[in-house]
Amino acid sequence: MTTFSMTIDGAPVAAEKTFGVVNPATGKVHAEAPDCTPQQLDAAMQSASKAYRDWKSDEAARRQALSAAGDALFAAASEIGPVLTGEQGKPLGEAELEVFGAGVWFKYYADLEIPAEVIQDDDQALIEVLRRPLGVVAAITPWNFPLVLASWKIAPALLAGNTVVLKPSPYTPLATLKMGELLAGVLPPGVFNVVSGGDQLGGAMTAHPVPRKISFTGSVSTGKRVAAAAAPDLKRVTLELGGNDPAIVLDDADPAAIAEKLFWGAFQNNGQVCSAIKRVYVPEALHDGLVEALVAQANSVKVGDGVAEGTQLGPINNRPQFERVSELVADALSSGAQAAAGGHPMKGDGFFFEPTILTDVSDGTRIVDEEQFGPALPIVTYRHLDEAIERANGTHFGLSGSVWSSDPERASTVGMQLEAGTVWVNNHLQLAPNQPFGGAKWSGIGVENGPWGYYGFTEIQVLHRSKG
Ligand code: NAD
Repeated sequence: MTTFSMTIDGAPVAAEKTFGVVNPATGKVHAEAPDCTPQQLDAAMQSASKAYRDWKSDEAARRQALSAAGDALFAAASEIGPVLTGEQGKPLGEAELEVFGAGVWFKYYADLEIPAEVIQDDDQALIEVLRRPLGVVAAITPWNFPLVLASWKIAPALLAGNTVVLKPSPYTPLATLKMGELLAGVLPPGVFNVVSGGDQLGGAMTAHPVPRKISFTGSVSTGKRVAAAAAPDLKRVTLELGGNDPAIVLDDADPAAIAEKLFWGAFQNNGQVCSAIKRVYVPEALHDGLVEALVAQANSVKVGDGVAEGTQLGPINNRPQFERVSELVADALSSGAQAAAGGHPMKGDGFFFEPTILTDVSDGTRIVDEEQFGPALPIVTYRHLDEAIERANGTHFGLSGSVWSSDPERASTVGMQLEAGTVWVNNHLQLAPNQPFGGAKWSGIGVENGPWGYYGFTEIQVLHRSKG
């Protein structure tokens, strides 16, 4: 078995205790990850705190280091990719692309120009709005995209002059630990620390006195716990939480033309994407044509071990999530829904589930109302567009949504009525480093990416210089 180390103060730290990491394609423990002790967490926080003193003062050095980190990630895609597939389940090509994608985020922030903000410059005064770093950032990530979601935090946080202690999900710690080892080669000691452990380690980080900011991506329920834990110390928080994204198909859409994009908007990463399509609203007249086209997609997809040639969808990442998806689909079927495709777990030891298209299902059924976060998509009919918009907005979620139509202007008008952080027209899941991403309502607080994501790792300082 490969040994995985945490990275604290620029050096690999051997595990005093470990916990098992399961390969979701086999359902078996295939590696051991360090279980960070309270003393090791303290050491990581102290190291980050110490490193902050110099790191915050040299912007040119920070940009150079971020660029080097991007290059290091590009070069390590084929080495870290298999580690990510082994713990997460996604196809190898997508895992390598994720490592590469993390590098893209580092490169983007290495080059991002932050314009000077002068709000007054006359014979009375020169007044500037400056952005100061916050200090140590505690970053906490989920198991669906461990590396790229970490890069959304680390790169802007470091550019702003903060230092970071990162904790990945206990289901997917390994590739992140590898990233920590890799970046220790290009970042000064203590600037970026990686610790691993169970959920309680996340709690210990949010309660720790050192971090000044918690940047969290995960579920709504944990996000609320993080916000509560940050409050007594007034730590800043960014929360990127769950979604139940609606796709609204308008009556002028062509089902055959949109089905492929719509399918992958829902099933990318086996449906385990916060902003994946989680429910489709379709006019009654288009229902049968759309279902037929989506079923053809679902039945043609190759599901298997992510390391196998040609695999398009891997397993669900972990047993609790596999059981949750199984339960939500079974609940819908027992309430009268039909599985037009799939509908069942697949045989074998891994956490494989058939790509599932559900019909005869509506709001009020758990799989429509809750976030399923897996390969099962309910298709819901509507009669009047206003009613579809109201139903799409009728949840606590507000991450993203999409509108599908042969008239993009009309679709945009509908999209602007969605209570969501991002709305796509005739597409879904298109994300980029320069595009802010965040949720309305219970889907989050704050945004990541672009200059807006950078600002989230800073606080404003007004420098007011009197003249004359
Ligand atoms: P989760 O909330 O269970 O865990 C996320 C992380 O929080 C893990 O590292 C976990 O160990 C840690 N954690 C658990 N309890 C904690 C506590 N009390 N204090 C601090 N940290 C704690 O989420 P998950 O199951 O890993 O991920 C799936 C969820 O994440 C879905 O709801 C999905 O929509 C959401 N998500 C959101 C985004 C986004 O950008 N909005 C992106 C990806 C995933």
